[in-house]
This record gives sequence, structure tokens and C-alpha cells, in this order.
Amino acid sequence: MMGSLLDHLVEITGHRDHDLLDISVMTALLNMVGVAEARVMELFQSRGELFVRPRVWISGGAVQTVDEEHTSSEQAGEPIVSFPGLVACIAQRKNRLEESTENGRHVLWIPIWQNDKVSTCLEIAHTQPFTPQMLQVMEGILSVYRNYQSLLDYSERDSLTGLLNRKTFDEKFARMVNAKPSESVARDDEDREERRHHADVKSQWLAVIDIDHFKRVNDQFGHLYGDEVLILVANVLRTSFRAQDRVFRFGGEEFVVLLRSATLADAQMVFERFRTSIEQHSFPQIGQITVSIGFSSISQETPVVILGHADQALYYAKDHGRNQVCYYDELLDQGLLQVGKKAESVEFFFDDPADG
Ligand code: GH3
Ligand code: MG
Ligand code: MG
Repeated sequence: MMGSLLDHLVEITGHRDHDLLDISVMTALLNMVGVAEARVMELFQSRGELFVRPRVWISGGAVQTVDEEHTSSEQAGEPIVSFPGLVACIAQRKNRLEESTENGRHVLWIPIWQNDKVSTCLEIAHTQPFTPQMLQVMEGILSVYRNYQSLLDYSERDSLTGLLNRKTFDEKFARMVNAKPSESVARDDEDREERRHHADVKSQWLAVIDIDHFKRVNDQFGHLYGDEVLILVANVLRTSFRAQDRVFRFGGEEFVVLLRSATLADAQMVFERFRTSIEQHSFPQIGQITVSIGFSSISQETPVVILGHADQALYYAKDHGRNQVCYYDELLDQGLLQVGKKAESVEFFFDDPADG
């Protein structure tokens, strides 16, 4: 018993990745407590409403997980009101709530409280009531999970805005580019030709967002007000995109968004909608601010090149009046940008052995 507990502890704390952490915790619950069914659920906001979506679960004695790279919008989750036990547990600020359902199942809801918020919870189901011993072992496993989860969050997120940080972006973006199906490999301009003929084709998109004249905010109102603006912009970002999209603070007053499976028209629409929300937002004391956005499709190119494209589009937006959304391919098609000019210099910068 002791040996297997230690093995599980080593396993749980051996990963720097939320998905692998979830999988180890499910495995520990399966092996040490013998639960029949369990799910790690993610809580997320979308258009002001709270939704719940499973991330990892035990089914038929095995641990299953969603393939995040291929998550479709259909797997977007269920409204939290479909889970009254969970709603009650959170409303009463409890660490766990046991429910028995009409089909004789016993369900335990365990929200993972972090400060006074819940973004992850566990749903554990059993055919009999949970014994005190089961509850004790589960409590032990979940304490480790809770603590380790907050350490992971701390390393993945930016402390000012709570958004995912630059390091996390680099990792996620590299994974997303690598996960692109290889049959669509084509030279970049062929690729573009394809997309022009299939406007309804779904793709992934990368946008770089930069606050316009942010220095003025700091200069006129001070750094604390500047920080406040960054927090408020982050909040608008959080509520502007779908659950399967990802928002990061790239650095300073720059943010990036990864948009999954959207058509060009969708991408244009959501970035434009975000730009408008910022323009129309009233920032306390400061008043109005605007953002410029450059975006590019996530093609077969390397992450550095794709980022270079979005950056070029952003610089174009900055040079041509700010407060606008520019699309790299469109600028290229109109002859307003030269192919890979910026990207090459970025690549050179990365390839240059600085320690030589
Ligand atoms: P534009 O992008 O429209 O060209 O103008 P800008 O004034 O935003 O240009 P720039 O990117 O040069 O300036 C960004 C400023 O953001 C510089 C820096 O002082 C400020 N900044 C960066 N990080 C932070 C932060 O964490 N907090 C605050 N308050 N300011 C920051
Ligand atoms: Mg900037
Ligand atoms: Mg700026």
C-alpha cells in the first residue's frame, strides 16, 4: 500500500503538463480507491455563461483523454446548470458534495478551489456509498493534486493578467504546428491558392495584438494605471474567444491568440469584434484605447515564420493608422508586403550562434 502510494506520488508530480497530471490522478484514483467512473472537468466562461467540459475520464477501467489538438467546437461543453450537484457544491463553497442519483449511483463532486475560484473539478461515481477509508485516500490524492495544480498554473501563467505566458505559448504553438496533418503539405503559395478557392475551409489562426500608444497611458497616468489597463484588456480577451481558442500575454502590452478550426471569414469576424469591443470599452480615468491586430494562418511553415507573418501584418496595421485588423495573406496578395522579408531576419536572429 505504502509502496504504491509513493509510486503514484512520484507519477503525479513528475509531469509539467496539466493533461499528464490529470491522467496520473485518474490512474491513482482507479488503482488506489477502485472507483468505477471519474472525470476531470474543466469550467470555463463563454459569452458570460459558465460551461463544463470533461478533460480526462475513466471509462471501462481505462483512462481516456480528449485530444486537444483535434477538439472540435461540438465538444465545447455543457452549461453548468446541467450539473446541479456541482452548482450546489460551489455555491456552498464546499470541498466536496455527495449526491445519490435515482439509478442508485453515488456521485462525489470535488471542486479544486484556487483562492476563491474553481476552474477544475472532479466528478467521481461509485455503485455503493463511499466508505470513510475511500474518502480518506481520495482526500490525500486530491491534496497533492490541488497543490501541484497551483504550482503548474503559477509556472504557466502571467502573474499580472492571469493569462497564459510566453513560455506556454512557445510550447503550445510548437505542438499545434507539429500536429498539422502532413497530407496538406504544399508550397506556401500553392497553399494560398487552395484557400482562395475554398473560403469555407477551416484552418487555425495566429493573431498578434498590440495596444496602440500604450506608452502614453504610462506617461500620462503612471505605471499603475498602465497595469490596470493590461488587466482590463486581458479580461476582454478572455471573454471574446471560444473555449477551444487560447489567449496569451506575449510580453509587455502584446498578446497572442490561437484560433482553432475557423474559416477565414470567422477569424476576420472574431478579431474585428474584439478590436471593436476594446474601442468601445470605457477604461476608468483613461477613457478610450485601441489595439492593432495582425494575423496569419497556421500553415506548414515553422513557428518562427508564422509568427513573423502575423508580426508583419501587425506592423502594417501600425504604419497605416492603427486600430485595425490586417491579414498577412491579403496584404501579400495586394502587393502591400514583400514575402518573408521580416521572417528571414527573425530566422537569422534565431540561427545566429550568440555564444560563438
Ligand atoms: P504603438 O504600439 O502604438 O506603436 O505604441 P506604444 O506606445 O504602445 O509602443 P511600444 O510598444 O514601444 O511601447 C510599449 C510600452 O508598454 C513600453 C512600456 O513602458 C510599456 N509596458 C510594457 N510592459 C508593461 C507593463 O507590464 N506594465 C506597464 N504599465 N507598462 C508596460
Ligand atoms: Mg509593443
Ligand atoms: Mg503598443
